[in-house]
Amino acid sequence: MSLSNGRAYLAIPGPSVIPDEVLQAMHRASPNIYEGELHDLTNSLVPDLKAIAMTDQNVAIYVGNGHAAWEAALSNVLSRGDTVLVLATGRFCIGWGEMAESLGVTVETIDYGAQAPIDLAQVEAALAADTAARIKAVLAVHVDTSTSVKNDIAGLRVVMTRVDHPALLMVDCIASLGCDRFEMDAWGVDVMVAACQKGLMTPAGVSFVWYNAKADAARGDCVTAYWDWRPRTDPDYYYKYFDGTAPTHHLYGLRAALDLIKAEGLEHVFARHETLARAIWAAFDRWSAIGPMQLNIADPPARSHAVTSVSIGTPFGDQLRRWCEDQCGLTLGIGLGRSPADAYFRIGHMGHVNAHMIMGVLGTLEACLTALDIPHGSGALEAAAGVIARA
Ligand SMILES: *Cc1c(COP(=O)(O)O)cnc(C)c1O
Repeated sequence: MSLSNGRAYLAIPGPSVIPDEVLQAMHRASPNIYEGELHDLTNSLVPDLKAIAMTDQNVAIYVGNGHAAWEAALSNVLSRGDTVLVLATGRFCIGWGEMAESLGVTVETIDYGAQAPIDLAQVEAALAADTAARIKAVLAVHVDTSTSVKNDIAGLRVVMTRVDHPALLMVDCIASLGCDRFEMDAWGVDVMVAACQKGLMTPAGVSFVWYNAKADAARGDCVTAYWDWRPRTDPDYYYKYFDGTAPTHHLYGLRAALDLIKAEGLEHVFARHETLARAIWAAFDRWSAIGPMQLNIADPPARSHAVTSVSIGTPFGDQLRRWCEDQCGLTLGIGLGRSPADAYFRIGHMGHVNAHMIMGVLGTLEACLTALDIPHGSGALEAAAGVIARA
């Protein structure tokens, strides 16, 4: 008997759960795009987007998903024939590098595999060896959503400074912005990209590039009129924020989402994500004492607070996801970019997520492990509840 009727729960790492406030803000007639409220609303987003990235620099808004922000960021600073260093800790940084290659940029990759963060000593050695400063930019992903690894971005800047390398530091925070602490200016990040459908809790379709003066000065020949970030950050040219029709309803939704973050307080948002992630880890520590299930990232400081990747062995990953959805109305993430994909699953816990939702995910998993006869340790739910109780 299926017990899935009721409100479905999409616990994947993007798109994330959309708050009712965001849905309601979007449920309206088309606004006047020439003047008035929509212009004021758009202008009001800019300081809040800078605050959430902890930067005083520029932010450009694009109508497009995260891949659009990837291309926008690369094309504004690179020229054909330039070299970039990709620090791969999962599928997403590799994908960003492939996009650089498609622009005619030479890509050098240090691949850390799917279970480890960036090794800073190795980056330092690679940059120190680049005495001619061929490497124009270092590309890193803060949280790689395929592996759930979190990289030490502040540490990356420290080693770049130590070897006095002039490369730009470019970071993908698509999965981490508004979930895991990120401080663009304090950490010395030159370019950062994010999208609205993960920690920012808005339907997919709008993305952002934050950039500083050094990145703007780097300006290469890859940039085309549509992706050029300069007109998009000039408040006197409203239409060019979007180079066409504004994504009207997304802007209303995003305003509501940023209001929710402001009302809760960014520090509290980070603390909530951390505590809920710790509850999940505590459950998996118990489950994985027996049987095939293991957290993908062993070292807690290298784990994301927004997504958790789990290995469970073929074909349990697919069976488990099928059972959770069909029997309980819970959709979990696929083993994206992993081989074999059905040996993994992921839990998205980014954005509009609270303690009872996480206990619901964990309780559903407990039932699933029992129903499918997958060996597992006991005491997982008590351990998770203990983390929440102590918070
Ligand atoms: C989701 C995601 C992307 C891709 O974003 P799209 O909106 O799907 O194009 C890129 N990088 C990371 C880290 C992501 O989590």
